[in-house]
Amino acid sequence: MTVLSRVMLLGPPGAGKGTQAKKIVAETGFVHLSTGDILREEVARRTELGRTAREFMDRGELVPDRLIIDMIRGRIEAARDGFLLDGFPRTVAQAEALEKITLLDVVINIELPREEVIHRLTARRVCRKCGVIYNVLSNPPSANGTCTACGGEVYQRDDDRREVIENRYDVYKASTAPLIDFYRDRGLLREVDGAQPSDVIFSVILSILSG
Ligand code: AMP
Repeated sequence: MTVLSRVMLLGPPGAGKGTQAKKIVAETGFVHLSTGDILREEVARRTELGRTAREFMDRGELVPDRLIIDMIRGRIEAARDGFLLDGFPRTVAQAEALEKITLLDVVINIELPREEVIHRLTARRVCRKCGVIYNVLSNPPSANGTCTACGGEVYQRDDDRREVIENRYDVYKASTAPLIDFYRDRGLLREVDGAQPSDVIFSVILSILSG
């Protein structure tokens, strides 16, 4: 049983937020709110927001705060029985806007050093159909490049190319890492070492959520 139900995952790209988020929502039933996933859907559907967002995403830059807040506000308000924020907020301005919508119970910071981020993300692949995350070195898809869970096509995200990854990490350090102090000051921050095996990280997170 979890007692904390308004949860945010913080950490650099590649720290394992998406992988942990899938396990946490399967266990708790919280609504998974990943701004990256929502934006990729907007891009795939070629909406106006998707077209605007794509220019920033392809460079590894952040999509402007106003667009992100307008996109996520209603989804947070609707998730009354608990939500897991994954990839939002990513700036202090977004965090301040979030405080006007709702207050968080806990922020879990999954830490990973720069070199490990780059190493992992260059090897990351994702199933286009069910979203399962693979790593060609440590957790590869099937030999013909399809998803072992659903048979879907496994692909490399456009922004998982080395130059873009390096920029995403720099953007994380400059714009998102200040949230570590922001939430520490509010007494909400819990830290987890992202270099541990995924199952170990998951059990640490579950114990944090049990209060
Ligand atoms: P992610 O899947 O979380 O790594 O997000 C992929 C990309 O979507 C990021 O590199 C940004 O371009 C954009 N993005 C996702 N979430 C946000 C956010 N909260 N604020 C601004 N841009 C975002």
